[in-house]
Amino acid sequence: MPRPLCATIHLDSMQHNLGRARSCAPLSRLWAVVKANAYGHGLERGMRGFAQADGLALVETDNAVRLRESGWIKPILLLEGIFDASDVPLLAEHNINSAVHCIEQIKMLEYTQLYRPIDVHLKMNTGMNRLGFRPEDYAAAYKRLRAIPGIRHITHMTHFANADELEHPRLAIGEQIRRFRLGADGLPGERSLSNSGGVLHQQQLAAELVSDWVRPGIMLYGGTPGGRSAQDYGLRPTMTLRSEIIGIQRLQPGDTVGYGSRFEAERSMMIGVVACGYADGYPRHAPHGTPVIVDGVRTTLVGRVSMDMMTVDLTPVANARVGSKVTLWGDGLPVDEVAQAAGTIGYELMCALAQRVRVTEGRMGTDG
Ligand SMILES: *Cc1c(COP(=O)(O)O)cnc(C)c1O
Repeated sequence: MPRPLCATIHLDSMQHNLGRARSCAPLSRLWAVVKANAYGHGLERGMRGFAQADGLALVETDNAVRLRESGWIKPILLLEGIFDASDVPLLAEHNINSAVHCIEQIKMLEYTQLYRPIDVHLKMNTGMNRLGFRPEDYAAAYKRLRAIPGIRHITHMTHFANADELEHPRLAIGEQIRRFRLGADGLPGERSLSNSGGVLHQQQLAAELVSDWVRPGIMLYGGTPGGRSAQDYGLRPTMTLRSEIIGIQRLQPGDTVGYGSRFEAERSMMIGVVACGYADGYPRHAPHGTPVIVDGVRTTLVGRVSMDMMTVDLTPVANARVGSKVTLWGDGLPVDEVAQAAGTIGYELMCALAQRVRVTEGRMGTDG
């Protein structure tokens, strides 16, 4: 028997969440973001789950080629663009759209003959201060890119820093849109704005600017970038991580648990040992009190997460035994909730799912 730990990917939920993104942004075409192995779900599953998307966006050049080789015929976008001039021929050969965010990338495109036209997303830095040209330098970058033979469509792109909070005190979306318009208004071409946070607030944003393209990621995987809960937005979990109790200990008052003996029993109690640890991607920093479900009953983590195991309080679980089913996150336990308890975000938990975890596919509400 394999270890009981298993992640079940819900392709039906991925489809459902894509539909939610569509209804939030009905006027936009939609890049489904599948970087980081489709947020831990598997690139090929991302391709199937988001078959109805208008395109797939990612950052890994080798995986962009893999998508083509796996039969994806709709657009593909490299969100960080290319990393070396030797990547330019790939764009033409596999018909891959590329972000262009710096002068070095423009030079790579200038120096390499394109034997087939390509489409690019020119990126503006409107305050995120990671990638892109500043609004005042943007038109010049556009002009230089436009002059390159072989560049067909140029789409104008920016990325929001605080899309989960419309009125962020330091940098509101409205301010980023204002800067974007300052740099790009009057230039021909489509617009690409909005990660999940922007898509979820599309109704408010549309008053300022309708985006031709949106680029949701986390919402398609049943998480949110912050703010309200995924369930409030009608999003469904796409990854359920389940395991089993593989050992039970009865503690006496004063007994401690695990490395560092961080948890000490105040009373006589039962704890369960779950086959899941940080080497599986479960966050080692998850503290005592992080939610977990055993036999359908909500309980909490106790003690420190170790490499292959973690320990949970069985007090509220009447008939817990070796073999009891455990849900770490997903169906019945939103990944965002576990992430929040562990001081991180759902993105990190799903992306960090380790290679050694068995993955299956199944619908929500089933045991996978
Ligand atoms: C990752 C990424 C997204 C998706 O962000 P989410 O918060 O997961 O929706 C969109 N655009 C760009 C440029 C990205 O890198």
